[in-house]
Amino acid sequence: MNYSSILVFFKDQDKEYVGFATLPNQVHRKSVKKGFDFTLMVAGESGLGKSTLVNSLFLTDLYKDRKLLNAEERITQTVEITKHTVDIEEKGVKLKLTIVDTPGFGDAVNNTECWKSVADYIDQQFEQYFRDESGLNRKNIQDNRVHCCLYFISPFGHGLRPLDVEFMKALHEKVNIVPVLAKADTLTPSEVKKKKIKIREEIEQYGIKIYQFPDCDSDEDEEFKQQDLELKESIPFAVIGSNTVVEAKGKRVRGRLYPWGIVEVENSAHCDFVKLRNMLVRTHMQDLKDVTRETHYENYRAQCIQSMTRMVWLDDTTVSKKHPETVWGSER
Ligand code: GDP
Repeated sequence: MNYSSILVFFKDQDKEYVGFATLPNQVHRKSVKKGFDFTLMVAGESGLGKSTLVNSLFLTDLYKDRKLLNAEERITQTVEITKHTVDIEEKGVKLKLTIVDTPGFGDAVNNTECWKSVADYIDQQFEQYFRDESGLNRKNIQDNRVHCCLYFISPFGHGLRPLDVEFMKALHEKVNIVPVLAKADTLTPSEVKKKKIKIREEIEQYGIKIYQFPDCDSDEDEEFKQQDLELKESIPFAVIGSNTVVEAKGKRVRGRLYPWGIVEVENSAHCDFVKLRNMLVRTHMQDLKDVTRETHYENYRAQCIQSMTRMVWLDDTTVSKKHPETVWGSER
């Protein structure tokens, strides 16, 4: 091979492989090094199994030091917002998980506007992020924005209660709401089916905008499309939580032991727990974060900038009325 043919050979090689195909690996390595974070809010009346479900979802005891109030204390209690953070690691991938709970929600005798403190909390996190982002040091911003809110619906009512409608309508433009039908083991399969249809109809009827799963691409395989359809039809996810491990058919499983049998949390014939966990952790965590950033936070940011501009404009007109000589182009 002479010199010119060697050059041609390398040119051809170069054409075939420049190296940018490694870009996804570089991004992957960088994000794994940085770690991931996710903030999940749980809301709904107390006693619906929120803390049990969170513990079952992430296999951690996030509520070690929870203090339960008695009936008298709960009458006057206002909604409190609590935050628990855990660092979990799986195969070298680190996740900083923050659970925001809303104890006291729906507990008082008068629950009018009890969604307000939850809405204020979400706004405060947006405000903090907006400040940090507009500040001098934007490198290490701590992101406390809420990426998803699991809203627990009681299995004992006939569909949604007024409080559920009020809460979801007040928050649907601030956070991704994922409704769940709590304690599904208290219902028969046909009751679960009927309740789901009723709740979906009511969500539509009241114009509640819950989190929408993104449409899957047309080139996805049929199995994936089927799974996607099933996921959309599972709303509200019928869930069961348990903090105990029981023995079922020779296997140790997370479940609830009743005199008539065992309800297995991770058995998809018993409930939608696995579907919910897969959606939250394996398939849609990044989309929930993207929608939070691109839609909910963007809306907040736009409103903020609009009201800031209006204030500056009002200030300017006040100055120009008081001191017309300071305004450019005004007659002296
Ligand atoms: P929270 O106040 O909403 O956090 O509710 P907890 O998680 O403290 O649960 C309240 C009670 O309901 C506890 O006695 C739990 O054992 C029980 N519980 C939790 N999840 C379920 C469930 O899926 N089914 C049934 N039947 N009971 C549950």
